[in-house]
Amino acid sequence: MADLKLPEIKDLTRIERIGAHSHIRGLGLDDALEARNVSQGMVGQKSARKAAGIILQMIKDGKIAGRAVLLAGQPGTGKTAIAMGMAKALGEETPFAMMAGSEIFSLEMSKTEALTQAFRSAIGVRIKEETEILEGEVVEIQIDRPAAAGAASKTGKLTLKTTDMETVYDLGTKMIEALGKEKVQSGDVIAIDKASGKITKLGRSFARSRDYDAMGPQTRFVQCPDGELQKRKEVVHVVTLHEIDVINSRTQGFLALFTGDTGEIRSEVREQIDSKVAEWREEGKAEIIPGVLFIDEVHMLDIECFSYLNRALENEMAPILVVATNRGITRIRGTNYRGPHGMPIDLLDRLLIISTQPYTEDEIHQILDIRCEEEDVEMSGDAKLLLTKIGHETSLRYAIHLITAAALACQKRKGKEVDIQDVSRVYELFIDVKRSTQYMMDYQDQFMFNEIPQVSDDTV
Ligand code: ATP
Repeated sequence: MADLKLPEIKDLTRIERIGAHSHIRGLGLDDALEARNVSQGMVGQKSARKAAGIILQMIKDGKIAGRAVLLAGQPGTGKTAIAMGMAKALGEETPFAMMAGSEIFSLEMSKTEALTQAFRSAIGVRIKEETEILEGEVVEIQIDRPAAAGAASKTGKLTLKTTDMETVYDLGTKMIEALGKEKVQSGDVIAIDKASGKITKLGRSFARSRDYDAMGPQTRFVQCPDGELQKRKEVVHVVTLHEIDVINSRTQGFLALFTGDTGEIRSEVREQIDSKVAEWREEGKAEIIPGVLFIDEVHMLDIECFSYLNRALENEMAPILVVATNRGITRIRGTNYRGPHGMPIDLLDRLLIISTQPYTEDEIHQILDIRCEEEDVEMSGDAKLLLTKIGHETSLRYAIHLITAAALACQKRKGKEVDIQDVSRVYELFIDVKRSTQYMMDYQDQFMFNEIPQVSDDTV
């Protein structure tokens, strides 16, 4: 089973690389957290980006946990793009988990289990481990000597493959002594003849010599600021609580991490893990890194899920919750009540709300420009203007979709760059929502189950 599922994972990664948001590389903010007009693939939507940047800064400073943010705005106004920008800007260490509201409905696990797994995927544990240097490992030893009054400070660096710890100590000690006699700079490599103990400075060119290659890549770094050799080195890993849960769940095993086939995890397993992590934290071996959980289409959750969220946010390890919706006042699933964005008022009251605004024609033009580059499509200025006009009158998403289609039309007529004729051709071939609705209106009698007279604004 596990063998069969691995290729699927590869395919998914490929799809993601050319996905709808692959051009987004961050929030595009400057050091003062002001949004640049066009930066890191982001265009316009400045105040929402700035607000997202402030939240991000608070996350990085470790100042907030258990807060929630709602990105609210019309379809295609960049809510998901902003969440992706936040994920990119957070860096590798901070976990970012993402799901659509509808993903909680599954036969394999309960809704609250699905949410628990999502929450725990957004909580990182930084574990510090001290390990001994093993025989045969490549080690790098750096020694800094504080400067004597008026003189430059001296730094030496020694790279060698350990034979045993005694050799490391022996050579290291000799190097410390040598530092007193010969001037070495940071980055210099020093050769020490094991037999005679003679020390030669090789400088940086040594990096190109055969001896250096033979040592293999430098995998470890040991720093001795006071000129003393350290025997231990610190290794830091960051894993999420969900990963620890899966690995320790006897029914699943670690392969489930790759297949995503985790099923339900027993609460006893989680309790044990939580108490172990609490123990490590007390001993100073581990730190909690609250990450970000992004739930798109949050109006798809129901009242049980909303009450779960309310409670889960109170946990001291809770991640930052970012939710997004394009709904107005609509029914809260699982009830007969309506609420703004399809959410209950008590949960809404906890949220910081960031709203996104529709794009101007200019901004649409810039986004299309970026997308053409991302999809490797050469398009003439006129064609881009036409596509911008289409995007402004229909939707940004529709215009983005037409880029690849127009490129194919251009390829078919063996053209060099996408021209007005290609854009017009695909505009006729693929209709947008407005034209499709008009068509339905005009020909409703010819369709089955026509219910247009009774249609309500409740789409759920
Ligand atoms: P929905 O409510 O329908 O889910 P949304 O608000 O989440 O819509 P996105 O999916 O983020 O909208 O945006 C639609 C497309 O436009 C995506 O390909 C997105 O990457 C791109 N896009 C949106 N806003 C921007 C922006 N400010 N800069 C660059 N690209 C953007």
